[in-house]
Amino acid sequence: LRDGTQKAKDLDELERRGYGRRENCRRCEFNIPRMADLACGKWGTEGRKVTFIEVCSERGSELLEKAIQAGYLEVEKPSKAVVEERERKDRKAFEQALGWQERDRKELEERSTEEKFSYWKSQFDQCIKCYGCRDACPICYCKDCELEADRNLVPPGGVPPDVMFPMIRITHVMDSCVNCGQCQDACPVEIPLSKLIFLLNRELARIFKYEPGVDVSILPPLRTVTDEELTLEVVDLAS
Ligand code: SF4
Ligand code: SF4
Ligand code: SF4
Repeated sequence: LRDGTQKAKDLDELERRGYGRRENCRRCEFNIPRMADLACGKWGTEGRKVTFIEVCSERGSELLEKAIQAGYLEVEKPSKAVVEERERKDRKAFEQALGWQERDRKELEERSTEEKFSYWKSQFDQCIKCYGCRDACPICYCKDCELEADRNLVPPGGVPPDVMFPMIRITHVMDSCVNCGQCQDACPVEIPLSKLIFLLNRELARIFKYEPGVDVSILPPLRTVTDEELTLEVVDLAS
C-alpha cells in the first residue's frame, strides 16, 4: 500500500465467497506450463525480485542460453528446498483445480434431464448471434466457418439463432478446447459457454486419453476417429 503497509487475504477464502481468479483459471490443471519451451513464474522465488525459469525443451534451452550470452539475463541455480516448494505449490494448485472442476460439474449435472434442457435452452435463447465466442476462440480459426449463413447450416436472420448455431461450435471445439475462457468472457449475455465446453472436453479426455494443447504432434480425437471405429461393438464410449 502507499503507506508501505501490506495486506493479505487468503485466496481460498476469497474464492469461496465468489471473488478471486476467473473460473477458467480456478479449474486449470496446468499451473506451470511445462508443455511450453520455457515455464516462468514466481512460485519458489520466496518473495525475491526474481523469476523462476524452467527449461522444458531443447529450443527453450537454446533461447535461454542466447539470452544469458547476450547479457539480458543473470541466472542462478535454485536450491533443493526452493524446487520442492515450487512442486508443493503446484501439487496444491492441481488438487484445488480438480476440486473446482468437480464443483462446476456438480452444479451443471445435478439436474434432471428436463431441468438441464430447460436451463441450456434459457441460456442459448439469450444469444444475439454476435459471433463474439467464435471470434475470440483460439480453436475457431476456419476461413470458411460453418456458422456463416452462406454455408446453409444455420438459417440466416434469426435471433436467437437456430439451435444449430451453438451446437456446431460446441461439437467442433469440444475435443480441443484448452479452457482459456475467451468465448465466455467475450459473450455479452454471459452464457457459460466455456464451463459447458470444458466439462464435455473432460469427458472426451477421459475416453480418448487426449489432453488438448499439450502435444501439437497429436491430433484431437474427433479429427482422427473414423465412422467405422465408432460402429465397432468393442468400442464402449460410455466406460
Ligand atoms: S474456452 Fe475453449 S471453446 Fe472457449 S475460447 Fe477457449 S478454447 Fe475456445
Ligand atoms: S465454429 Fe467450427 S467452422 Fe466455425 S471457426 Fe469454429 S471450428 Fe471453424
Ligand atoms: S458470444 Fe454469446 S451472444 Fe455472441 S454469438 Fe456467442 S453465444 Fe451468442
